[in-house]
Amino acid sequence: MELETPYALGGTYYVETVSVGKRTDDETVRDCVVCGGHVYADDWHLVVGVLDTGSGRQRHHHCSDDCLTEWLKLMTAA
Ligand SMILES: [Zn+2]
Repeated sequence: MELETPYALGGTYYVETVSVGKRTDDETVRDCVVCGGHVYADDWHLVVGVLDTGSGRQRHHHCSDDCLTEWLKLMTAA
């Protein structure tokens, strides 16, 4: 899902997209940046596209919507 208006996180960071990811052919396992739990690329998880106007685009992977909410709180509290 592309946000109509990029969501400002503070500084040079903006959330551009939020999507649900599942790639059955991808065995990548990432650590959730919030809870440290495993995020499996081949299972349902949340992917947030962040634009850093200084250095380009990044993707952040979250294991659940709770973690995404928590992460947004942390990012915008700074
Ligand atoms: Zn998590």
